Amino acid sequence: MSLFVQKYGGTSVGTVERIEAVADRIAGFRAQGHDMVIAVSAMSGETNRLIALAQAIQSTPDPRELDVLVSTGEQVTIALLCMALKKRGWDARSYTGGQVRILTDNAHTKARIQSIDEANMRTDLSAGRVVVVAGFQGVDEQGNITTLGRGGSDTTGVALAAALKADECQIYTDVDGVYTTDPRVVEKARRLDKITFEEMLEMASQGSKVLQIRSVEFAGKYKVPLRVLSSFKEGPGTLITLDEEENTMEQPVVSGIAFNRDEAKVTVAGVPDTPGVASRILAPIGAANIEVDVIVQNVSADNTTDLTFTVNKNDMQKAVSVLEGVAKAIGAREVLSDDQVAKVSIVGVGMRSHAGVASRMFTALAEDNINIQMITTSEIKISVIIEEKYLELAVRCLHTAFGLDAEPAESSTRG
Ligand code: ADP
Ligand code: ASP
Ligand code: MG
Repeated sequence: MSLFVQKYGGTSVGTVERIEAVADRIAGFRAQGHDMVIAVSAMSGETNRLIALAQAIQSTPDPRELDVLVSTGEQVTIALLCMALKKRGWDARSYTGGQVRILTDNAHTKARIQSIDEANMRTDLSAGRVVVVAGFQGVDEQGNITTLGRGGSDTTGVALAAALKADECQIYTDVDGVYTTDPRVVEKARRLDKITFEEMLEMASQGSKVLQIRSVEFAGKYKVPLRVLSSFKEGPGTLITLDEEENTMEQPVVSGIAFNRDEAKVTVAGVPDTPGVASRILAPIGAANIEVDVIVQNVSADNTTDLTFTVNKNDMQKAVSVLEGVAKAIGAREVLSDDQVAKVSIVGVGMRSHAGVASRMFTALAEDNINIQMITTSEIKISVIIEEKYLELAVRCLHTAFGLDAEPAESSTRG
């Protein structure tokens, strides 16, 4: 008998029929004698609908009230799922984040989990009940409702599994595992049996939204066995694994390709090339709470240089306004911006032991006439910023160039 924490995403609980199907699946595990703790998302589209309501009233909604609003989506699905379980003869009890007492900091809309009170869940499990917890939410010290950032139910699932020392945390979604790249974009994407935490973390941070990045960080830190599976069909899914040695041996150089359409580029042109200038440009950006991703500074010509960096598309206008004043103060020529860019990243622990990966990437892009605007690398990743309209072409061509394409027969296995 095992203890499983299962998380079901928005599409998996998107309709009453889907909720009934999830209840059947959970009932199957209970019938085998397993203890079950479930985290659920809101029905698909619901969180977006609630955010749109808020924005119809306040363009930048009050963060505390936004959390009160968007956390209601998950309160609907926990109750419906418990009803469906009871209908099947299995006792179940629903909990909001606050009722469990998933304690977070007070950073509304992007709160971090600090601790989880296990007491109520343990009592229910010993009484044979299925515990159903609202994903994506918690409470701060003062009892204010908080939420964990978009996709945050993944993190609820992993945090519950860590707190309860579950045998496995199973993330049920609408694809049957982690693929070499988003299978909705590349037909020939292939499901991976295993991927290392390190690679999954890099994939998530470079834009693969199959798992929220914090959930992967959490699972790595607390060594939670983590698996991604489909709620629509049976299958082994993908195990996120710690045994990097074994994996590296048999692994290709590149394990996956991630991409992010949310980036925008800002350039401060004609910057006097003197010490301290980069910090005078980037410090006010940080102070305005704008996250910077890729940064490139050109070689100086005539003692001036261009400094280019990327930010989230939503922050581009704000970054430009912040910099217009700064540019004048430091004697830069102008501030330019472009939101028609995207980032493509190749990820793989195999890169550590192979040379020439970057040139293979750049050659493949050149063969398709895709111009590279910026480049950034880490030990297990190379990212490029390109024109957004070439994004899908770039992902497909790199997928082929690094030997990731599935055989035609395999490509129909997704969930
Ligand atoms: P859920 O609502 O279950 O949390 P998400 O939409 O957040 O589901 O995440 C699942 C989606 O992630 C898939 O439908 C797929 O389009 C996307 N995705 C992006 N990259 C990958 C990848 N490498 N492997 C699998 N799915 C991916
Ligand atoms: N419902 C929330 C969202 O849409 C959390 C989640 O689904 O993980 O972001
Ligand atoms: Mg998700």
